[in-house]
Amino acid sequence: MDTSKEKTGWSDEELEASVDAYLKMFALEQQNQPFKKADENRLLREGPLSKRSASSVEYRMQNISAVMEQLGQQRITGYVSAKNLGSGVSKRIKEILAKKGIKALRKGEQRAVTFTALQLVEVTALQQNEAPVGVLNPKETTSTVVRLARAQSVKKWVLKHSQGICEGCGQTAPFVSANGRPFLEVHHVKHLIDGGTDRICNTVALCPNCHRRCHHSSDKKEFTAEFYKKIERLRPE
Ligand SMILES: [Zn+2]
Ligand SMILES: [Zn+2]
Repeated sequence: MDTSKEKTGWSDEELEASVDAYLKMFALEQQNQPFKKADENRLLREGPLSKRSASSVEYRMQNISAVMEQLGQQRITGYVSAKNLGSGVSKRIKEILAKKGIKALRKGEQRAVTFTALQLVEVTALQQNEAPVGVLNPKETTSTVVRLARAQSVKKWVLKHSQGICEGCGQTAPFVSANGRPFLEVHHVKHLIDGGTDRICNTVALCPNCHRRCHHSSDKKEFTAEFYKKIERLRPE
């Protein structure tokens, strides 16, 4: 592994982002959903693990596998356990897993971590007002339940985060919906049909005018490019 970037210790945020990504892949594997380790690795390094190398992220995933095994849980098949992790890191990973409901199995207890890991990640994210992980390959994620649940969490988060202000023009929503909330529409900056992801870094809340402008105007390219400049959470795809 590349040790040059390992001189600085991993922050809690970095470890938690790693655990979240791990659990997401784990849940997908449990449900025979496709995922690519290399894609997840890259996504982490484009986001919360920008200070880390691909090999150190890979190694961290193997550490998490080791902790999962210590807890008596299953691990992601593709990440063999790398056991020589410092006890400090091991303990911190255990604490993060515990926060997400994954603890050591007692004797005779069933392995409980199956698809619920995914729900736990999404649910805790929403409860803690953290960003949901979303869906990397919406078109390939074939389980309708998973796809809809995750799409909902992204949509809800983006709408809530907008606080009723259109992220295109900065105006308040044009009216209040029947459900009492400001009316804004959720738009994928890179369209799903073009391979865009269903994640908060590709999703904006827009008033109907701005939304139509994204799809139909003569300046839709320029208009869309502005989003990347003014909305920090977005990542060009
Ligand atoms: Zn607008
Ligand atoms: Zn749209």
